[in-house]
Amino acid sequence: MPPRFIVFDLFHTLVDGADAERDRVVGEMAVMVGVDPDALLRAYHETWDERLVRWSVEETIRILAGRLGVHPSDEAVARAAAHRRALAHRVLDAVHPATLTALDALRAGGARLALVSNATAEAAEEWPACALASRFDVAVFSSVVGFGKPDPRIYLAAADALGAAPADCVYVGDGADGELAGAAAVGMRVVRTVEHKDTDPTWPGPVIQALRDLEDCPV
Ligand SMILES: [Mg+2]
Repeated sequence: MPPRFIVFDLFHTLVDGADAERDRVVGEMAVMVGVDPDALLRAYHETWDERLVRWSVEETIRILAGRLGVHPSDEAVARAAAHRRALAHRVLDAVHPATLTALDALRAGGARLALVSNATAEAAEEWPACALASRFDVAVFSSVVGFGKPDPRIYLAAADALGAAPADCVYVGDGADGELAGAAAVGMRVVRTVEHKDTDPTWPGPVIQALRDLEDCPV
């Protein structure tokens, strides 16, 4: 019997996070706006906490290029932003059919599903068009609500939108950003997934190898 309310992380849980491709794309964006690729990549990684709750993709490009002493034209910013949005679309579009099948099986069994994602603005923008979106009753993005995991508010927003008490929710994630401890702290039961990445190997709770294993996971 699957849990009735399930809250999922997105990157490295439902889709591959494509970290290497993301870094390549950021380097290409740097060339488009006339800054050093390594410097932009470094600035990109150093500002994760800000990008995930504050800036649009255009703001990210302008602010980071500005810090590197470059003020790109509107046209160059638009080109680089489109390049980044195309990556977000590709990453979401690359969801494995087995993942969709597993989500459909959970829903057919009566589960209601929520997404809670630490993601920059372009992922939230591309989400409604992807095949995953129709499987979810609720989607909460850090870039939209203005706070990210492990802030309790983002988990509680998802539970509230599901009409569930946190204790009735199971949280499933790879473990980035302290998300598993954050979910446990608000009272959710937690399942770690290693399907895409073994992010948090010391987490002491149950682990699944693939989403289809969730139905039989003892939580
Ligand atoms: Mg993740």
